Amino acid sequence: MASYLLEHRREQIFPKLTTQQIARLEPHGVRIDTRAGDILAEPGEGHRKLLVVLSGSLEIIQPGTQGDELLNILLPGDFAGELSTLRGVPGFVRIRVSAAGTVLALDEDSLRDVVQSDAELSEIIMRAFILRRMGLLASGHSEVMLLGSRHSGGTLHLGEFLTRNGFPYVNIDVDTDPGVEALLERFQVTAADIPIVIGRGGEVLRKPSIQDLARELQMNREIDPDKIHDLIVVGAGPAGLAAAVYAASEGLDVLVIEDTAPGGQAGSSSRIENYLGFPTGISGQALASRAFMQAQKFGANVSIACSAKQLHCDQRPYAVETADGRRMQTGAVIIATGAQYRELNIEDLPRFIGTGVYYAATHLEAKLCEGEDIVVVGGGNSAGQAAVFLAGTCRHVHILVRADGLAQSMSRYLIRRIEESRNITLHTRTEITALTGTDGLERVRWRSQSSGVSEMHAIGHVFLMTGATPNSKWLQGCVSLDDKGFVRTGLDLPAQHLAAAHWPASRPPFLLETSLPGVFAVGDVRSGSVKRIASAVGEGSICVQFVHRVLREFSGAESAIAY
Ligand SMILES: Cc1cc2nc3c(=O)[nH]c(=O)nc-3n(C[C@H](O)[C@H](O)[C@H](O)COP(=O)(O)OP(=O)(O)OC[C@H]3O[C@@H](n4cnc5c(N)ncnc54)[C@H](O)[C@@H]3O)c2cc1C
Repeated sequence: MASYLLEHRREQIFPKLTTQQIARLEPHGVRIDTRAGDILAEPGEGHRKLLVVLSGSLEIIQPGTQGDELLNILLPGDFAGELSTLRGVPGFVRIRVSAAGTVLALDEDSLRDVVQSDAELSEIIMRAFILRRMGLLASGHSEVMLLGSRHSGGTLHLGEFLTRNGFPYVNIDVDTDPGVEALLERFQVTAADIPIVIGRGGEVLRKPSIQDLARELQMNREIDPDKIHDLIVVGAGPAGLAAAVYAASEGLDVLVIEDTAPGGQAGSSSRIENYLGFPTGISGQALASRAFMQAQKFGANVSIACSAKQLHCDQRPYAVETADGRRMQTGAVIIATGAQYRELNIEDLPRFIGTGVYYAATHLEAKLCEGEDIVVVGGGNSAGQAAVFLAGTCRHVHILVRADGLAQSMSRYLIRRIEESRNITLHTRTEITALTGTDGLERVRWRSQSSGVSEMHAIGHVFLMTGATPNSKWLQGCVSLDDKGFVRTGLDLPAQHLAAAHWPASRPPFLLETSLPGVFAVGDVRSGSVKRIASAVGEGSICVQFVHRVLREFSGAESAIAY
């Protein structure tokens, strides 16, 4: 993949800027004279600059577990930089001067000014950054190693986290990798310590949490604890990312807090075929990373592996407290925390999560069950998509639903694909009753309600696609919720609900505003929402115009935005 990218898209990965384009960059940067052998950036260093070669040359070197690799030599007109440059987080390559000369250096704020104001340069730079990251990911080359086992849920969890955050790492399977003994000895760890992450400087993290990983690998930009943000968006699924893109592009100071990785539920979808503008479909991961980059481009600060624990709503500015005890203040809040799959009430199920029971059907899971029989539980669109996608690589897919059929819950196009597929069997009025296995899942028992017959099958992979509950516990009494815990907004807040919630304003709540002025809810977490990507994106986008209004109300001053 890395060599395919280089072969086919070299000109876009390493575009040469014209004299006119460089002249447009000049006022944003400073000229630096370089000497042969100078190191301009090391892997792991944050706040790197975009470096445009004016004369001389630069070597781009990627250190990895197998030694250094020379990725490219940059000549006049070329530029060094990557997505991490835009975010201000540590990068992955060393930049060494091979021939003395001059570079034009732009810091991250100036770079952001350029990509926001110069459409032509923005396209060239953003495309190069995206392709460079894709190349890094595909190269299989990184200083960061994940040592684990395909039979370990913890390993899968960390692998998913790094993958969904587009972080390059090398995966070493302690069960099969030939060089593993030497590695374990070198870092003085044992197989009992897995999952183990070896960081850039050789630091060893035994069974780290995703928060440990994000901290050690410096995956986030700093958050100024004293700042009062215009807007905090909680959740970076489609709704939260859309809100962040619109708000940041309209000049608001936006902080996004995301529990895991950008993309939310959509990020775990193998192929989305009904989102406008993608006639051949798009993977959730690709959609999420594009949206994430767009939010960065406009200057939103997205903090991953960062969970909102509580909303402090007794006074304004409001404060969002995170699980690690930090408090961030803000004029307005957008709740975009989405929903979570319901777990089935089956004994031993938690034991198999990640080692045979999955809540997502991406390429990662598809690889694990290639050529094997699998079960998909659920009758909604996500179950249908998973079944059709997995049928492409698995031997047989059994769909289990409690209902009489799929017509009430699944889109017609998916039902047709399931019916036409020779290796998918639909079992209606059927439920899983037991999961068994020693290290990982080995057998599944299910029972037909129609016949009363139970069957045991030697199946090691179950995909649970069984509906969702809202992530609204952190709101603790601040906003009005419906009986299932979804957040009520706008017209769903009649006078008696507003009175019960002590609504203080003389106006009624805006569309998407909760029972607390200045706090909005969008996407799947919102009561009555249509559980679709397009509607989540739409709500996240629309909501921003009301954020301007409440900020204006709150500050008593005119907003910079005219609408
Ligand atoms: C496998 C799958 C396939 C799908 N396919 C399609 C499809 O093809 N077409 C379609 O239209 N829809 C599809 N959907 C539905 C669609 O993905 C959702 O409707 C959409 O993702 C909802 O977006 P959201 O931003 O509201 O919430 P979510 O996507 O749920 O995102 C919420 C985010 O908030 C974060 N979060 C939660 N709690 C906290 C907290 N306390 N602090 C910080 N962050 C928090 C979560 O980690 C998550 O990233 C699919 C869903 C799944 C699961």
